[in-house]
Amino acid sequence: MNNSAVRYVAAGLLLLGLFFQACAQKPEPQENCNFVQNSLKRRVSWENDVPVIFYIHRSVPGEYFNDIEQALDKWNARFGRNLLKLGGWTNATDLPQKDNANIIYWLSEWESDRSFEQARTTIYWSSDRIYEADIRVNAKNFEFFSGENPVKGSVDLQSLILHELGHALGLAHTQGQGSVMVTTLASATLRREPSEIDLTSLSCEY
Ligand SMILES: [Zn+2]
Repeated sequence: MNNSAVRYVAAGLLLLGLFFQACAQKPEPQENCNFVQNSLKRRVSWENDVPVIFYIHRSVPGEYFNDIEQALDKWNARFGRNLLKLGGWTNATDLPQKDNANIIYWLSEWESDRSFEQARTTIYWSSDRIYEADIRVNAKNFEFFSGENPVKGSVDLQSLILHELGHALGLAHTQGQGSVMVTTLASATLRREPSEIDLTSLSCEY
């Protein structure tokens, strides 16, 4: 039942980016390298502005702190460079919004027509530079587990966050064998190691 899509929503200053681009020399389109691309077919990423610092919203149950930390560490360790950094808990009380902070939220309310989403990462970019990413976990429609032992009918939070952090870095979905960026994450499944495909993709931008 939990073969649900995990999606990214690319929003933000796309139109503003277009406006700026129109005034400048038009850049060449790029191969996607499994990255999200802007309307000019340029990959969007943080480029040299890493590590990206993520904060954990108070809505996230404390038992998941280590799972989130390990998901960040997996990307860093496997890629061999610190792309992500945990800033700890944030005292922000607001709902997800564009606020120049990268935050992981735990939401008990979710759009009923999107109840299949396990989580959602929103990335904001200008031109081809990402400047903010927020991750929402769908705690209304899914249950999660922490630690090493899969729980039937529940989603592995570490695997899910690993995938969403991939989106936060600019990666799109891929059907590549072993990729953690495959759209769906089955329940009671551990998918905690970025694959060679994922690392090769990242090396296009980082
Ligand atoms: Zn996804």
